[in-house]
Amino acid sequence: MTARIIDGKAFAADVRARVADHVARLKEEQGITPGLAVVLVGDDPASQVYVRSKGKQTVEVGMASFEHGLPADTSEEELLKLVAELNADPAVHGILVQLPLPPHLDEALVINAISPEKDVDGFHISNVGKLATGQKAMVPCTPLGCLMLLRDVHGSLSGLDAVVVGRSNIVGKPMAQLLLRDSCTVTIAHSRTRNLPEVCRRAEILVAAVGRPEMIPGDWIRPGATVIDVGINRVPAPERGEGKSRLVGDVHFESAVEVAGAITPVPGGVGPMTIACLLANTLTACCRIHGLPEPEGLTA
Ligand code: NDP
Repeated sequence: MTARIIDGKAFAADVRARVADHVARLKEEQGITPGLAVVLVGDDPASQVYVRSKGKQTVEVGMASFEHGLPADTSEEELLKLVAELNADPAVHGILVQLPLPPHLDEALVINAISPEKDVDGFHISNVGKLATGQKAMVPCTPLGCLMLLRDVHGSLSGLDAVVVGRSNIVGKPMAQLLLRDSCTVTIAHSRTRNLPEVCRRAEILVAAVGRPEMIPGDWIRPGATVIDVGINRVPAPERGEGKSRLVGDVHFESAVEVAGAITPVPGGVGPMTIACLLANTLTACCRIHGLPEPEGLTA
């Protein structure tokens, strides 16, 4: 059996198109333009690329993009002042502070200073609590993207056995909460889990969010399972030339594709969904702030 390859790139393009459509209608019918503010502290090159890409895609779907680049030695007080200004700005519906922050800044303090309804990353403690207690929340973008892909493959997820490998606050835990909310039977595995291969083999839905290149081989996968590979790992690729590298997931794709029913590739699977879901979240935040109906199929 060879798995269906889940095309995250195409799905993300469709999400962006639906967001753009809704944004156009908001502008025309309500005179409202959703706005996303992204704050980057310091000059980490990977973060700069990511922030530029967010800004470009924000504009492409018709939203307003506000980019704030601050020097690496910005004080906590200055950063909190900017967050307070963005909280109060009616043109801004979503605020994202790019992580990681330089070590002298308290990430939790800064994230929790963002107004929860503008917290499009879904990291504010109040959104984390709302998600865990089944209330309307802003949901972290990567797990939301995974959920959309899973719903597309399965329709209803109710009753399915799901295993999430990884328990980080940004991927593993919110992913598990979302699967639980969709009535899966959820197991969260991590570095202390005993007999991980056996645990993984129980999964009808297997989400890998570990950060270890190709750690999960095909023989850990239940035949026919849906595999969502969140991992993004850069590994050397001498076959492509000296000093070259390539991206791989946490799942060993070549062996997994022979066993799984459906699988996301890396790159081109979960990755593109993250920014698409950031745009979807910004639109959702805008609709909620203005008391308008939320976009269908773009929320958890
Ligand atoms: P973290 O490092 O924060 O968490 C990794 C998790 O994996 C931890 O819970 C850890 O367990 C667990 N783990 C580590 N080693 C093992 C092991 N040998 N067996 C079982 N579990 C293990 O990573 P993130 O959640 O932030 O990211 C995970 C991956 O997803 C990374 O590759 C990252 O690059 C990628 N990512 C991709 C995104 C996208 O847009 N596609 C967005 C965000 C992340 P413990 O808690 O016990 O230490």
